[in-house]
Amino acid sequence: MKRSKIKTIALVAHDNRKGDMIEWVEWNWEKLMKHKLICTGTTGRLVEEAIARMFGEGSYDQLQMMKLKSGPLGGDQQLGAKIAEGEIDILIFFWDPMQAQPHDVDVKALLRLASLYNIPTATNRSTADFLISSPLLEQEYIPKLIDYSKYINRKV
Ligand code: PGA
Repeated sequence: MKRSKIKTIALVAHDNRKGDMIEWVEWNWEKLMKHKLICTGTTGRLVEEAIARMFGEGSYDQLQMMKLKSGPLGGDQQLGAKIAEGEIDILIFFWDPMQAQPHDVDVKALLRLASLYNIPTATNRSTADFLISSPLLEQEYIPKLIDYSKYINRKV
């Protein structure tokens, strides 16, 4: 599926990584605001608060941002479903490698779907920096997808 010049970028951060995520969002705000954002609940609220701090209360009303449920309450699964539907172009997911999560299975499922559907995925700040600096961010792009028709049509 063709990725348009305006990308839908998903932002998710575990609690111990939220500080990093917000700093990264503040740092890259000019680039991010040209695209559509979709966040898990708490990450989204913190992004809104950061925008309000930078540009004043209510400024985030103009944002093209969708907030899903909080990750542990189903937000990761909602995001996974959107990946399967082809609605997400980029995933920035700062997951916490030092702490088990109550929704570890959802985290694994989200990362699995991102791999399966060949979604550019950053799980740390350096990769996020490289993604946000890529010229492909502002260009149309046709990702190469693995053909699963043999699997879909297999005899069982
Ligand atoms: P949260 O979810 O943004 O609602 O905290 C993040 C996560 O997936 O754990």
